[in-house]
Amino acid sequence: MAGKQLLKIQGVETYYGNIRALAGVDVEVREGEIVSLIGANGAGKSTLMMTICGSPHARSGSIVFNGTDITHMPTHEIARLRISQSPEGRRIFPRMTVTENLQMGAGLDNLKFFREDVARVFAIFPRLKERQHQRAGTMSGGELQMLSIARALMARPKLLLLDEPSLGLAPLIVKGIFEQIKKLNEQEGLTVFLVEQNAFAALKLSHRAYVMVNGKVTMSGSGKDLLADPEVRAAYLEGG
Ligand code: ATP
Repeated sequence: MAGKQLLKIQGVETYYGNIRALAGVDVEVREGEIVSLIGANGAGKSTLMMTICGSPHARSGSIVFNGTDITHMPTHEIARLRISQSPEGRRIFPRMTVTENLQMGAGLDNLKFFREDVARVFAIFPRLKERQHQRAGTMSGGELQMLSIARALMARPKLLLLDEPSLGLAPLIVKGIFEQIKKLNEQEGLTVFLVEQNAFAALKLSHRAYVMVNGKVTMSGSGKDLLADPEVRAAYLEGG
């Protein structure tokens, strides 16, 4: 099912000043996969996402995307290689309408495809079509999350990075959003790397997953195997 290697992260260390947030991380994502990274608060999950995007840069190790070494590349150049991110907190522009937010996601490179791409994301998220002229700041958390994913899709990504898509959302809304992610993967072959504290939802959705503790990957396997793993269950699933 999974295709060629798309993202290869090897021995990555990232620091904030003297604080080492990532302590030698190895992660791989292959074309067509949904891969998730789970772990507790402060484990380093968001730092890995941001390091892939080049802000901050890794201090050591390497990140290769689609055959290109992006370890030290500036963020805007990495984005042009078609890595697109829906960041933690969504970072939607609240005073702009839904459509204007989507325009921001398209960037100059893809504005020529705007009509086609907007129609595509509206087909995936019909709610956004209904709200296309509405200011984003007036929308619900679930709608903002849809918009954040839709905006990332406007950049025509080869790899979609999602940082905590379930954050602050009710279980039913999370279910709907995760179903859309699955559909994007199954129907369009979109490759997804997602970071989640909601381990259950993430593992259920993912082909493979990594567990991160204190800036290190401590476990990896298929979503199904990790869901059944006693250690994972005790640490991340029970009581959750
Ligand atoms: P969360 O789910 O809370 O976002 P996380 O797993 O994504 O957690 P990170 O946000 O990557 O974890 O944080 C990893 C470590 O780096 C934590 O110890 C955190 O305090 C530290 N850290 C994160 N951002 C900064 C920063 N800008 N400056 C200094 N330390 C930071």
